[in-house]
Amino acid sequence: MMAVKVECVQGNIAAQQDMDVIVNAANAQLLPGSGVAGAIHSAAGPGLAEECRALAPIGPGEAVISSGHNLPNQHVIHCLGPVYGVDEPSDRLLSDCFRNALLLADRSGLSSIAFPAISTGVFGYPLRDAAAVAMKAVADTLDNLNSVRLVRFVLFSDQDLSVFEDALKRDPGLSGR
Ligand code: ADP
Repeated sequence: MMAVKVECVQGNIAAQQDMDVIVNAANAQLLPGSGVAGAIHSAAGPGLAEECRALAPIGPGEAVISSGHNLPNQHVIHCLGPVYGVDEPSDRLLSDCFRNALLLADRSGLSSIAFPAISTGVFGYPLRDAAAVAMKAVADTLDNLNSVRLVRFVLFSDQDLSVFEDALKRDPGLSGR
């Protein structure tokens, strides 16, 4: 098994120049919206929403892939995270997002993927819990990856970054890699 690097950075998910695919914290209809989806659609241009029309709707935990349009990335993977306290079990549905996105990127032959903190904005998932779920989902999927070599979490603020870095350090399947 080849090594997969997992890292956390502060930044804008729509400005990851060196990644093959970025993940969108999408809504069910895959429409532009606010937060991550707004940033990705405005950087991608209207072609992305047009392409997405044929892929929508998606359910919590699901992932679909589109091209990157005017983004610096070849592709966008759109995931619908759970609305915290509404879509249950939230932890499994959030974990499914990361797992399904990783497997979809891998099946598409991509080598680098960047994730935002899915569900932790408008959808209300507590950040610390979401970070632990994300790291465990990545750790549990690593053995099934053949082409993905770099997994990056992109956090909007320095505080959010330190929460994710802490979760990365604490995950028994990822620490010391
Ligand atoms: P959701 O609806 O899944 O909760 P949001 O887009 O509302 O998704 O927020 C998800 C997380 O992404 C939040 O922690 C938010 O602070 C962060 N975020 C918002 N915009 C960006 C961006 N441009 N790049 C990276 N992270 C972002």
